[in-house]
This record gives sequence, C-alpha cells and structure tokens, in this order.
Amino acid sequence: MANQPQTPDFEDTKRAFAHLSKRELRRALILFQTVGNIRMVRIGKALMQLAHALRIPVGWAIRPTVYSHFCGGETIAECEETVATLAHNHVHTILDYSAEGKEQEADLNATQQRIIEGIEATQGDDRHGFSVFKVSGVAATALLQKAAENPEQLTEAESQAWERVKARVDALCSRAAALGTPIFIDAEETWLQGAIDSLALDQMQKHNTERALVFNTLQLYRHDRLAYLQALTHRAAEEGWHLGVKLVRGAYMEKERERAEERGYPSPIQPSKADTDRDFNAAIQWCVQHINRVAFCSGSHNEVSNALLAQCLAEAGISADDPRVWSAQLLGMSDHISFNLSQSGLNVAKYVPFGPIRETIPYLIRRAEENSSVAGQTSRELELIRREVQRRKQSA
Ligand SMILES: Cc1cc2nc3c(=O)[nH]c(=O)nc-3n(C[C@H](O)[C@H](O)[C@H](O)COP(=O)(O)OP(=O)(O)OC[C@H]3O[C@@H](n4cnc5c(N)ncnc54)[C@H](O)[C@@H]3O)c2cc1C
Repeated sequence: MANQPQTPDFEDTKRAFAHLSKRELRRALILFQTVGNIRMVRIGKALMQLAHALRIPVGWAIRPTVYSHFCGGETIAECEETVATLAHNHVHTILDYSAEGKEQEADLNATQQRIIEGIEATQGDDRHGFSVFKVSGVAATALLQKAAENPEQLTEAESQAWERVKARVDALCSRAAALGTPIFIDAEETWLQGAIDSLALDQMQKHNTERALVFNTLQLYRHDRLAYLQALTHRAAEEGWHLGVKLVRGAYMEKERERAEERGYPSPIQPSKADTDRDFNAAIQWCVQHINRVAFCSGSHNEVSNALLAQCLAEAGISADDPRVWSAQLLGMSDHISFNLSQSGLNVAKYVPFGPIRETIPYLIRRAEENSSVAGQTSRELELIRREVQRRKQSA
C-alpha cells in the first residue's frame, strides 16, 4: 500500500520556521526587507562586485547577514549545524561547493577536489540526498562554449583541455556512483548547455543502468526542453538505462533574452511566464507517468508546482517517499515549502552552498537579485516571516 502524500499546507509558518531561533527569524526579516528594495540590491551588488574585484575583505559585513542566511559555512565541517538542523526537520542536504568563474587548470582541479570532498561527505550519512556540481566549475567558460557551439574547431591544445574536462566530470560522477549517492549536474546558459547535455548523457548511459544516479538538469523556461525530456525518456527506454532529471524553470532568463536580441537570433526562452509554468508542470506530469524509466527532482520555489507534485503522486498511487521522486529548494528560501512538504511525506532536500565567503559572492548576488526581481517571491517570503514573528509574539 503506497504511503499516500498528504496535501501540503504552505500556510503553516510555525512548522516552516521552527528551525529558526528568534534572532535568526529577525535576521531573515531584515534581510528580505532589504533585498525587496531594488535600489538597495543594486547598491549592494555594486559594492560587492567592487570589493570582489579589488579583493577587499568583506567577510565582516557579509558573514553575519546574507552569507549566514544563504550558505552553510566556509567548509563542510562548518555546515554540520545546518545539515543537522535540516535532518532534524526531515529535510535532506545537498552540499553545493559554490566557486564560479575559474579559468586556470590548477583552480579547476582544486574545485574538482572540493566537490569530491562534498561527495565523500555523503558516505554512510543518509542526511544527504544528492551531490551536485556545475560543469563551468571544472571547465574554463570559453572552452565550454566552444565545445558547445563549435567542437570541430577545437585546436590541439583545446582538445586536450576538453579531454581533461571530461575526465573531471567522469571522476565526479564515478565517485558519486561508487558511493551510491545520486549527483545533479546543474544547467547553465544555452551557449554552454549543449556541451553539458552531451557530458551528462555519457554519464547517465554509463552509471544509470540499475537506477538513476546521474541527473541532468532541464530548464523549462526554454521552449525546447519538454520535447528534449520526452526524447531522452524514449532514448533511455530504447537503450536500457534510467533517466535522471532535475526540473527547474531556469535562472538566466534576462541574460538569455538580452544576448539573443543583441546577436539577432530567436530567443530560446518561452514568450511568457505562463508558458514556462505550463511546460514545467507538464514535465512533472510526464515524469510521474514515466516513473518506471525516470527519476526526478522538482527544483522549485513555486507553490503550485510543488502542490501539483504531491497531487500527481497521490493520483498515480506512488508512495510519497518513493526514492525516485524529490522536491528541492535553496537554503534560506521557501522554508514554508520545504518543511511543510516534508511533513506531507515527500522526499525534500535543500542546496547548502559552502565555500570561502569571497567565492560565494556571485551566488549571493544572484540570490539577492532573484529575490528583488522575481515578482511575488520576496513579498511572499516577507509576508510569511512577518506572520511567524507575529504568531510567536502572541504565543509568548
Ligand atoms: C533546488 C534548485 C536547483 C536549481 N538548479 C538550477 C540549475 O541547475 N540551473 C538553473 O538555471 N536554475 C536552477 N535553479 C533556479 C531555478 O531555475 C529558478 O530560477 C528559480 O527556482 C525560480 O523558479 P521557481 O520554479 O522557483 O518559481 P517561480 O518564481 O514561479 O518562477 C520564476 C521563474 O519563472 C521563469 N520566468 C519568469 N518570468 C518569465 C517570463 N516573463 N517568461 C518566461 N519565463 C519566466 C524564470 O525561469 C524565473 O526564474 C534551481 C532552483 C532550485 C530551487
């Protein structure tokens, strides 16, 4: 008998914020009030970028504020408290080493090593749901772009560098597979994604023979991704492996549209938010319908999509905690979804970014921008945090 998912109650702020002390809740309140103000975010972004470029230490300002809210710590050991708190509330951790934009071979190897350490931390510790990495963390961006757009033009030296990228990706996926930890390959800009898809396909064919251990990421704000999901599902069935996918809407919409406009090619992005929502929800339904071939994670802060996931599982008679189905959010965001969904019986995980404060600045800027530009997101977070502050005052 399937363990039926309960209908999640995203209004339950007591459960959503039970893991936050009074001080932490207050910090969250101030933070979301600040990032809700576009001017403040622009000024903060400019200051952070300047400090980053000039290597001015900003840890004293960032650590107690945005960093503590959105990141687990500088090292895996420092993330322990976050991992334990999430596990205590039935939410799994996805350690995410968040260094970006490295170009030198030594730096790329060092990033690979940090990611391996994150993978190894999952060994024998079921508080961890997945491992994750970005291919651009272990490949120079220009090379990745050339491998995506013009692979036949790679010079001899570039071909050798590309072989090293493949070896790094293989080392990461193979280590995760050997430990039985599923691993996500994050999705990036369209001009890099062709190469990432091809690396991910190789790794899925290699490791997903018994079950899905390597997961590619599909961005449903692209108008071609639902068809790609369907084609991959058929290919996996024909070739006898299991498809692993993380479904997301996509993080680079403005950049994608601007570039397409500048260079005069058709935008790869859906014409409207409603189109993205339609394809994202259709992708969830597709994965549930093909659950015998597809394992998937819905990476989303959207309440409708997360409620739909629970509903589709219930309708299909799939157990809420079926190991092939997950929902994931980012640390410090949409706790009302993560903790209430896990209470409904679903498998839930949160990305827990870690790394030196300096290295996490681009990630933190993206979080601040996302929370100031995505309509409704901050006001919803703010509304729920305010309600919880109020509730605690009344019940004190
Ligand atoms: C666990 C997790 C992992 C993630 N991994 C990745 C990743 O690997 N790669 C990646 O790119 N992103 C990733 N993201 C970010 C994700 O793609 C979204 O940017 C973010 O989650 C916001 O989308 P949403 O589903 O949460 O909700 P919503 O707030 O409902 O949707 C906002 C999103 O809708 C889309 N959208 C908004 N306006 C329009 C419009 N006018 N036209 C078309 N589409 C529009 C955009 O994608 C926007 O980000 C991840 C998110 C999570 C939670």
